[in-house]
Amino acid sequence: MGKGVFAVRGYPATAMIGEITGELAFHSAPGDEYTFDFDDELQLQPEAPFRFINHSCNPNCEFELCEQPETDEQLGKTGLFLFALRDIQPDEPLSIDYNWPASCAIPCLCREPNCRGWVVTIDELPLLKKKQLTPAL
Ligand SMILES: [Zn+2]
Repeated sequence: MGKGVFAVRGYPATAMIGEITGELAFHSAPGDEYTFDFDDELQLQPEAPFRFINHSCNPNCEFELCEQPETDEQLGKTGLFLFALRDIQPDEPLSIDYNWPASCAIPCLCREPNCRGWVVTIDELPLLKKKQLTPAL
């Protein structure tokens, strides 16, 4: 399934793996499939390696917007960070839940036992099932 991101070492659950850096853009910017929505208007176009993290319905990581504590060297700042949801072994592929809206859903190939069948936010999964929407491929 193309590119992925693999842990270079093990991480315990809840560990902070790294900060996601990239360009902030408004939604009207030219389409980029690797973006993370901050809110209704702003999105982040992440730089490698984090832009290549794959979707899983049973992800081992999640992004969280949080405040980095202030230290002697630098001021505190808000950033997007990647955290481990469970213990991660070295060389394990990192994955997140893309939580896409039903209008953007594509078939999911994660093969997890709890796979939803679609890369879609769990809240909008019933929309796909009920209306038999044909997601854009
Ligand atoms: Zn899946």
